Amino acid sequence: MITTRALTKRYGAVCAVQSVDLDVREGDRYGLLGPNGSGKTTLVRLLLGLVFATSGEIEVMGQRIPRHVREVLPQVGALIEEPAAYPHLSGRVNLSLLDAAGPGGRAARRSRRKRIDEALEQVGLAGVGRRPVKAYSLGMRQRLGLAAALIRRPRLLILDEPGNGLDPRGIRDLRELIIGLNETGVTVLLSSHLLAEVEQLCTRVGVLDAGRLVLQDDLASLRAPTGRILVDTPDADQGWRARRRLRGRRRAAPSPRCPAHR
Ligand code: ATP
Repeated sequence: MITTRALTKRYGAVCAVQSVDLDVREGDRYGLLGPNGSGKTTLVRLLLGLVFATSGEIEVMGQRIPRHVREVLPQVGALIEEPAAYPHLSGRVNLSLLDAAGPGGRAARRSRRKRIDEALEQVGLAGVGRRPVKAYSLGMRQRLGLAAALIRRPRLLILDEPGNGLDPRGIRDLRELIIGLNETGVTVLLSSHLLAEVEQLCTRVGVLDAGRLVLQDDLASLRAPTGRILVDTPDADQGWRARRRLRGRRRAAPSPRCPAHR
């Protein structure tokens, strides 16, 4: 669904994304995990053609980005950083304007109201869609941003820190919404700096550190036992003794899941 090869983005001396080979497969709930400043937003922006790469290649739904971004974007729902909206207009009117600015002729116009109703319902804003956005809380604005990502019924959702500003209930609703959409065939890529969020929601994980993708795997494989044991003690001698005992026990009863501790 999304692949990048040696993708690199520099801002002057700062290398925000460094030689990243991303591999998001159809049907994934892929979590891009990394601390602040690790390059998550820059990578998401690159995928959507919002910034140009310094070097490397990007393919989204089999099409090269940014060359074919116009064909690809109508099938992608995206939420990046804080969603923008006209504060004096209602959530519903904001969604309507956004949809009208997108591609599609009479068919899109005819289905607009229904799609907006559906998106507002999905994000839990059905009752407040007519209120001006300036009266929305931070979490409600985030939900509106999500609704904007959903109005075109996308095949691929790209969400940058979607849990920002949401209370625990909002985060639970978001999780259920993402899992539900994924079960209907929507592939999801989301970024987060919260391990627990990614662990509860995702099927595949990529870890970014200082612009580099240092790990990429299925969550199930990462959760499987490694056969390693971490001994944490302030007493170094005791630590060595524990290590020796463990090695002795393993020699006596070798297990294929527990290779010798080195
Ligand atoms: P956060 O979780 O805080 O949003 P992030 O993982 O999304 O962080 P980025 O926003 O992609 O990280 O930033 C990665 C690096 O690139 C940072 O060092 C940042 O200062 C730098 N950077 C990002 N955008 C720009 C820009 N437009 N100009 C210069 N440097 C930038």
